[in-house]
Amino acid sequence: MRFVLATHNQHKVVELRQLLADSLPAFASGRAELLAYDGLEPIEDGTTFAENALLKARAANAHTGVPAIADDSGLAVEILGGSPGIFSARWSGQKDDAANRLLVLAQMRDVRAEHRAASFVCTMALVDGEDEVTCTGIWLGSLATEVRGANGFGYDPIFIPDGFETTAAEMEPSVKNQFSHRALAVEQLVSVLASRL
Ligand code: IMP
Repeated sequence: MRFVLATHNQHKVVELRQLLADSLPAFASGRAELLAYDGLEPIEDGTTFAENALLKARAANAHTGVPAIADDSGLAVEILGGSPGIFSARWSGQKDDAANRLLVLAQMRDVRAEHRAASFVCTMALVDGEDEVTCTGIWLGSLATEVRGANGFGYDPIFIPDGFETTAAEMEPSVKNQFSHRALAVEQLVSVLASRL
């Protein structure tokens, strides 16, 4: 059974392949596989993570004819009203992770520790023709005051998950994959996929 992953973000491809292999024997053995997607990515003009995940999965499913999985995710900072939210990838005006992180840190510069709550949100969509499913995972935490760590991507170096002292970028990828928003969304998606394998 083949699925296409509707993203050009290689970090997401790596994390999701690992997460699926960890939770579904069919992916670990190669009986099911997650194909990379090289078609056009649609304009993400939805207003929620779920709408954008569905837009991406529908486009990839229509382009390839293969059931498509998409991930729309981002950082939601409580005191910023949930921003960057669905605008996480281009918060600084461009698709530049370092610039995005620095802008959030600057916006949060004078905010005390007790008001720095934030979460990572991930909605996964599975689209196979008329058949559409979405699953959402939320990873609670807070914002660091400086960039720390070299693993992961995006806002990982400024996100401290609840229960940890380290940022997500200071964690081993295997640890991030146990707790992350993406892991939580995949956990739900796995039960949907398992019924099709
Ligand atoms: P998308 O590709 O439109 O879903 O944008 C996702 C953006 O949210 C990425 O470019 C990152 O900036 C951020 N993001 C999503 N997931 C993560 C994560 O696991 N760690 C760090 N940043 C993330």
